Amino acid sequence: MAAPRSPAWNKAPFGNSYDAVARYSCSLPHFCDWIRRGTLQNFPRDPTLDELFEAASAARQNAYAPYSRFKVAASIRTPSGSIYCGVNVESASFPVGTCAEAGAIAAMALAGERVIAEILIVGDGDALVTPCGACRQRIFEFAGGGDPRVHVAGPGGVRTSFSLRLLLPHAFGPNLMPP
Ligand SMILES: [Zn+2]
Repeated sequence: MAAPRSPAWNKAPFGNSYDAVARYSCSLPHFCDWIRRGTLQNFPRDPTLDELFEAASAARQNAYAPYSRFKVAASIRTPSGSIYCGVNVESASFPVGTCAEAGAIAAMALAGERVIAEILIVGDGDALVTPCGACRQRIFEFAGGGDPRVHVAGPGGVRTSFSLRLLLPHAFGPNLMPP
C-alpha cells in the first residue's frame, strides 16, 4: 500500500513559524539561533524528498519494535539516485537492538554504495525523531566528505531538516584516520 503523499513539509505540525519550531525543538538558545539563521528554511516542495519519505513510511510498517512500540524507519538516497531503507529492530536483550539508520546504511553498503547524499528518518510522537548520537557518527562515516541533509519526518510528512555538520560538529571520521 502506498504511503500517503507528504504535505508541503514546511506546513507540518509546527506551522510556518521558525520561532515555534525553535521553541519546540530545543530550549538551548544557541540552537534556536542556528534555526533562525537558516538551518531550517522554507524550502520549496521537493518531489524527490516526497519519494524518500514514502519509501521510509512504507518500510516503517515492518519495523520490529515489540518492546518500545516506537517504530522508526530511515531511507537513504545515494548520489546514484538509489534509495535504501532500514527499520529499527529491537531485542529482548535490549542493548542488542539496532537503529533504523544502521539498517539503511547496511543495505546501502550491501549494494556496494558508500556515500549518503541525504537521509530521512520517520517516527511518531510529538518530539522530532532525530538520529541518536551513534547514528550521527554512522552517517558521518558515509558522508563522503560532504554534508548530507538529515530530514526528520513524522507520519504526516517531513517536519524539518538539518545538515549533518550541525548535528555532529567537529566530528571524528575517516578523514582523520592515519593512512
Ligand atoms: Zn541510532
